Amino acid sequence: MRVTWTNLTMAPEGAEVELAGYPMAAGGARQARHFLLLPEASCCPGHAPRDPSGAVEITAGQSITLGNGAMRLRGTWRVCLDGWRYQLHDAQPIDPPGWRAVTRRGLLAAGPLMCLAAPEGSAAAEPTRVQAVIAAGSAVDIHSHAGGIANALRIRAGSGYSAITAPMRRGGMAAICLAMVSDSPTHHVVDGRIRPYRTPDAGELYAYGTLAFGRIRALVENESLRIIARAADMRAISHAAPGVIIAAEGADFLEGRIDRLAEAYDRWTLRHLQLTHYRVNELGDIQTEPPEHRGLTDFGAEVIRACNRIGIVVDVAHGTLDLVKRAAAVTTKPLVLSHTSLSNRPGPTSRQITAEHAKIVAGTGGVIGVWPLASVYPTLPAMAVGIARLADVVGVEHVGLGSDLRGLLGGTVFADDDALPDLAEALLQTGFNEPDTVKILGGNYARVFNASMAE
Ligand SMILES: [Zn+2]
Ligand SMILES: [Zn+2]
Repeated sequence: MRVTWTNLTMAPEGAEVELAGYPMAAGGARQARHFLLLPEASCCPGHAPRDPSGAVEITAGQSITLGNGAMRLRGTWRVCLDGWRYQLHDAQPIDPPGWRAVTRRGLLAAGPLMCLAAPEGSAAAEPTRVQAVIAAGSAVDIHSHAGGIANALRIRAGSGYSAITAPMRRGGMAAICLAMVSDSPTHHVVDGRIRPYRTPDAGELYAYGTLAFGRIRALVENESLRIIARAADMRAISHAAPGVIIAAEGADFLEGRIDRLAEAYDRWTLRHLQLTHYRVNELGDIQTEPPEHRGLTDFGAEVIRACNRIGIVVDVAHGTLDLVKRAAAVTTKPLVLSHTSLSNRPGPTSRQITAEHAKIVAGTGGVIGVWPLASVYPTLPAMAVGIARLADVVGVEHVGLGSDLRGLLGGTVFADDDALPDLAEALLQTGFNEPDTVKILGGNYARVFNASMAE
């Protein structure tokens, strides 16, 4: 059926439809698999409507050539409850760019236009390699506290949060694993290091978890972020409608009770669980404190099996080498180690990992997120070299980005998600080709996420 901008609500879910409009891709790219279709030409690249029903999100199996003029597309209609209200899946062009069927202005559904800076270099007539990488629309940051959600004092005080969606849109970041910090009330900074300083009261970290997850959910709603809860959601991710994977840094909120895992899956849409953080908890040992359990505990193994069964990504960041060895033996799904960097000789309490440690994670089919710590990598090009070294050890399929945004004590070379085009540029200049850069910046994580989901 043919759909027009005044009767978008008439098309039923799953229908084969035709729709004409003006394409808008991130960074002004001239070819894309993910882009928005607008009822009228945008005044300049990067102006997306505020109203989620004022644009249709297009996804296509193959890149479609875009232009400044209108085009007509055919595809499968989807009606969504979050993100952009309408989507056209498996889209194919019928009439090419420049075809001028849409002339009627004043289509009020579009709403006010929001001014956003386009990624640097977007004025170029031909897409640059960086634009092509961003236009893939699949970038995922696998460890982030964007918004400022890592700190217990701030959460308890109900402090304001920093913007998440706007920097993601500017940079072309499609999704982030947004992590609450499970043990935040029981650690503090001593001599530049984060250390646990007291044993939590019974029920304390469960109650804190409720507060922190609730805060993330409120933030996600306020920022109009879509929640990625299933493999189908991950396959549909797009920088045009940024999404989050709800994550936890530390499983301390379980307090040793396995039933609370399914509760967090249902109540908070938890889909990514890091087993341990800065406290030796019920699941196992950590890199920054002396071991107490010789690695992963039996409860930790039980949690991994439950994650595999329910559909939660298992993250072994902060865990000791012994923890990772047993986790790899127990899990039936790929593991993630979301934020670290490779070192020939990590210190006794370092968060860095050896090649042996990295290979165990990669051996599960997993992915290792590289940290943008300025003390390790003083510049983005230096970080790109660090990523290349890790890829040399474990293979490019097993490397990703874990920014730890708003969670780092020291400086970072990836200060916000709008740095994504700069990181893409640095990776390309290091010698990665475009497909491998797309994998590093999110494709690899998407593979692990999809393998981890229950359906
Ligand atoms: Zn961490
Ligand atoms: Zn963190």
